[in-house]
Amino acid sequence: MSYFDNNATTQPSQKVLDAVSEAQRVDWANPSSPYRVSAVVRAKLERARADIAECFSASPEQLLFTSGATEANNTYMAHQYHRLGKDQRILVSPIEHPSVSEPLTSWFSGRVDWMPVNDQGLVAVNEVEKRLQANDYGLVCLMAANNETGVLQPWEPISQICQARKIPFFSDATQWVGKLDVSTLGDCSAFSFSGHKFGGTKGVGGLISKEPMHPLIKGGRQEKDQRGGTENYPNIEGLRVACQERLFPSQAENFLREQWRNEFEKKVCALIPSTEVLGGKVARLWNTSLLLMPNFGNLRWVSLLDRVGFQVSTGAACSVSQLKSDKQGLSAIGLGPVQSRRVIRVSSSWQTAERNWQNLGEAMATVFAELVQDSGESPVISL
Ligand code: PMP
Repeated sequence: MSYFDNNATTQPSQKVLDAVSEAQRVDWANPSSPYRVSAVVRAKLERARADIAECFSASPEQLLFTSGATEANNTYMAHQYHRLGKDQRILVSPIEHPSVSEPLTSWFSGRVDWMPVNDQGLVAVNEVEKRLQANDYGLVCLMAANNETGVLQPWEPISQICQARKIPFFSDATQWVGKLDVSTLGDCSAFSFSGHKFGGTKGVGGLISKEPMHPLIKGGRQEKDQRGGTENYPNIEGLRVACQERLFPSQAENFLREQWRNEFEKKVCALIPSTEVLGGKVARLWNTSLLLMPNFGNLRWVSLLDRVGFQVSTGAACSVSQLKSDKQGLSAIGLGPVQSRRVIRVSSSWQTAERNWQNLGEAMATVFAELVQDSGESPVISL
């Protein structure tokens, strides 16, 4: 199998699996009980918190453990609902993951404004600055890197503008963390991340925030009253290992991997004419390629590629019909519903070798020929 859906989830590393299973076996006691065995687990949990926070240049008190980025994002938006005045508006990008946009549109109904995005899926800093000058926003949200296109967003300059204007700035850094340098993320008022996107296990992630959170999940005093529920120490231990393994990527390695991805795109565009790389003209994550195929529904592409051993994704296309606004997701970059169903997302990991990218390019050409033959069409591309 050649797994190319790493923006959805990644394989946990062996060291992570070992750390998690050791903690499950030995340190399974409740970390919040008053007996001595718990004190040991509590100490290890707090050690993991300190180590993970340090990886992000944050202090341990700023790190709230959650079940992943969806919960971290929901927690932050609910917190802002309790904090902000009833007439304050929110400025957010239209390309956010639904775990940011849906809580926002639900908590702040009628008070959400969307940032302008160009046809490459990139937010325009100047336009955002103009809007911040003209309006009194209570919160600004912009993801660090988009999960579909991989396009790197200008979260750093916008975070600085917000800081100068004393507006809280939140970034969903789920796709950034584990792939690019995290050293300046702490400049945001808060950001979220998820362990299973960078070799950790599923069901653990975090929110790093300069202020304590109003609890979204009530019913327990854990996490200093910010999140009810027994602490997930074994998976937190795995998260600690994943952070230490993946949070300091070498630029040279990233560059090399980006070249493999770029060669793959060149090959696919040459072998399957009229294929378009969405967001291909701007800086992107080194692992992501969002392809608008010239023909055939993406579910057919995905199932034929799967049969020959390659797992790729239909991207956000499946959820296009669920979007509340026609300005969100792929439509924000100008794609209609028909085009959206021709989109394939390919996302590699650290384990992906150059040869895997080459093989995928060849497999796509073979699948294209099969699809053309099955459809009884001439190989002339219909758009
Ligand atoms: N934000 C982004 C940008 C994502 O890509 C994802 C995962 N698809 C999430 C949030 C949700 O992450 P989790 O699975 O940890 O809830």
